[in-house]
Amino acid sequence: MNLAERMSRLGTETAFAVSAEAAAAIAQGHRVYPFHLGDMNIRTPDNMIEAAYKAMKDGKTGYCSNYGIAELRQALAEDINRSHGTHYAMENVAIQPGGKPVIGKFFLALMNPGDEVLYPNPGYPIYESQIEFNGGKAVPYGYTEGKENFEMKMEEIEKAITPKTKFLVFNDLQNPMGAESSRAELEKVADLVRRHNLTVLCDEAYFDIRYEGKSQSLASLPGMEERCVILYTFSKKFAMTGWRLGAAIGPKPIIDAIAKLNVNIESCSNHYIQWAAIEGLTGDQSGPKKIIGILKERRDKAVEMLNNIDGIRCFSPNATFYLFPNVTGAMKRKGFDSYEDFRRAALKDTGVSFCSRLHFGRPQPGEQEAYIRFAYSGINVADIEEGIGKLKTWLEA
Ligand code: PLP
Repeated sequence: MNLAERMSRLGTETAFAVSAEAAAAIAQGHRVYPFHLGDMNIRTPDNMIEAAYKAMKDGKTGYCSNYGIAELRQALAEDINRSHGTHYAMENVAIQPGGKPVIGKFFLALMNPGDEVLYPNPGYPIYESQIEFNGGKAVPYGYTEGKENFEMKMEEIEKAITPKTKFLVFNDLQNPMGAESSRAELEKVADLVRRHNLTVLCDEAYFDIRYEGKSQSLASLPGMEERCVILYTFSKKFAMTGWRLGAAIGPKPIIDAIAKLNVNIESCSNHYIQWAAIEGLTGDQSGPKKIIGILKERRDKAVEMLNNIDGIRCFSPNATFYLFPNVTGAMKRKGFDSYEDFRRAALKDTGVSFCSRLHFGRPQPGEQEAYIRFAYSGINVADIEEGIGKLKTWLEA
């Protein structure tokens, strides 16, 4: 039996292979410090669990609209308008089984074969996978180290644009780098989008995972609401990654097309979970506040300890739950020139498990600096302290 030709273009999240190696080490009785996980070891707020249970008992267990239930679409449009200053109505919202499905459906609905798509690299690997799977050309853009955080290489992006460039994938509050655009950078991006008539997949998975200040959305800038499709997810803000609930928010014709894909792919998103999401958006907000408090404590500990290791430097991003330390010096001192050798040796000798730059899109020619990704969403402060302590001893030995 032969698989379809298109399957050769489908990528994956190679970070799952790191999880498998960590699980194998645990099964052999080793202590593992899980910094590789983008998952969370924090419970979903109780009020949402209760709301889901009540909805189930109330019989919200049948199919619902392929767009999602009207009450949730309305609540989400209002929530986004409050935080973004936008003008969405429920007609601009299509509920999804997670944020991730918005990526594939955006390209299925809008992209034609041969269209070129600018996407962040290092970045969430599903962009590259879905662009190529759906017959587009994935054109990477990179980031560079600024004073306080990573900055987009705007000149590189501008140079990569051709008459075939139709889309920009923009993941402000970025996985894996924790990069955040300044207002000036957002304005440059908006200007580029307008000048080249691009449509934007605006991945806002981490919009609400924020410790200081206020998140800003590209969709809030003049002329952008008409050009952006926002990827929204309940996964991170409410620590409900495994519940699978998100949304596509954008211009009505695109949302209608995405909702038509919903009918064809999954009929509708899980019905009773949508009632829990309404409670999350409109009910007691102490749950998400508590989640942010837990994550902030972890960030502060991890950043402080990583910066204390010879040969490592690490920004302290105000948003996301990722760190992307520069480990060029540390790898050199230890005699590693391969990411995978370095990662496996660290796991074997210290139990510290992390992903590297390799897990976030194909490396690009000319990359000089080496980076690894530390996620602190699935590891407690005490284990952060113990794990990074062991890493320091090993690296500085
Ligand atoms: N976008 C980014 C940048 C992510 O990091 C993730 C998950 O890690 C997602 C989208 C999708 O998350 P979910 O499908 O759980 O909403």
